[in-house]
Amino acid sequence: MRFAMKMAVFREFFILSAIIVSFANAGKHDIYSGFTVHGVKLTSPSHAKLVHDLEVSLDLDVWQHGAVALSDALVMVSPQNKQQFLEELEKNGVEHYLHLEDVAKAFEEHDAEIERFQGTRTNRMVFESYPRYAEIDAYLERIAAAYPDIVTLVNAGTSWEGRAIKYLKISTTNFEDTSKPIYVMDAMIHAREWVTTPVALYSIHRLVEDLQEQDRDLLENIDWIIHPLVNPDGYEYTHTTVRLWRRTRSFYPEVSQTCYGVDANRNFNVSFNTVGVSSDPCSDVYPGHLAFSEPETEIVKAILEDNVDRIQIYMNIHSYGNWVLYGFGSGDLPSNVAHIHHVGAAMGAAMDAVKLPAAGYYLVGNSALILYATSGSAQDYGQHIGIPFSYTLELPGYGMDFRVPPQYVDHINAETWRGIATTARLARSYYLARNAN
Ligand SMILES: [Zn+2]
Repeated sequence: MRFAMKMAVFREFFILSAIIVSFANAGKHDIYSGFTVHGVKLTSPSHAKLVHDLEVSLDLDVWQHGAVALSDALVMVSPQNKQQFLEELEKNGVEHYLHLEDVAKAFEEHDAEIERFQGTRTNRMVFESYPRYAEIDAYLERIAAAYPDIVTLVNAGTSWEGRAIKYLKISTTNFEDTSKPIYVMDAMIHAREWVTTPVALYSIHRLVEDLQEQDRDLLENIDWIIHPLVNPDGYEYTHTTVRLWRRTRSFYPEVSQTCYGVDANRNFNVSFNTVGVSSDPCSDVYPGHLAFSEPETEIVKAILEDNVDRIQIYMNIHSYGNWVLYGFGSGDLPSNVAHIHHVGAAMGAAMDAVKLPAAGYYLVGNSALILYATSGSAQDYGQHIGIPFSYTLELPGYGMDFRVPPQYVDHINAETWRGIATTARLARSYYLARNAN
């Protein structure tokens, strides 16, 4: 009896130890164990359509849709649907290759790389790596407190989970000189696109803390609204729990008992819920049960609508792919498309001039004609309500997809700032020409 009890205790202890050991060994990204990412060559429109069809039927996570003859699609598949996915490609004669053999390991390595990088940089600025919500918030507060003459901090409301959503208004005339155009920039509407917020924060830095003589016109002649973290709940969730989370974190039990969030960049009230969306509330392109169901998109809407008379340009920043895209997501072109293309192409060219060899050249065009049809996007909403120049910017991925190494962030910041400065000046010249007539 005593021996049996002893054995039972020993067994309990053994099981407990095994559980502790397995927890200790559990990787942060274990949910991606066995997941692979495949590059798909798109040599004809039928290949792109196949990827879209499989995305829905196999519920795949398409990291990059690619463009026919221009760039490959990158598709993440689970161990369960890998075989079927590859068979469908083979059956249709589509060329493919393995891009990532082990998604879990790849993100463990990326985390370690970020940790190492941050350890080696003392006095690191917030935009030099991948800051968390609290650091971003502290930076906005600090800039507003230190530069009260030109910076106004706006506390715009709260996210679904209750985080304060803040943005900065930057102006030498307190937004009172109505002869100036307004430039609106926002980032991180898609939570996993980590490199986007540093670009917005760096733009603040260049306008406020580190204004260089050649950029004085940008501060003096233009009013700026910079909103660096559109989707803070989703973003924090990518840091704590699910690295590849893209959506918001809202929960509507009457719509779905199991799935949280919507694709905020399909949630705007412009051709809402028509093309490039899924009715499955668990899909990464689920637009929501109503336009503007999300507090986060309501805030973007308010920024654009409250200032629409003077906003000349809206830049909605994403990662990755080296694209400067404009509306409409249906493939219909805005009436001033020649102007939009001109300013977008000048932006791409300015960034290409200083690009790293590992990056592709920027491609510029209508988002539906060169990529794929979408509806309810921020880009389209801006164009739709009357902003003359409304863009989706996809930053470089350097072949590293969402795992842009932290040592590249400085370069992306500086390169993109050149592009932003170019668009700001050109768009202003259109603004002055229009107002002179
Ligand atoms: Zn995106």
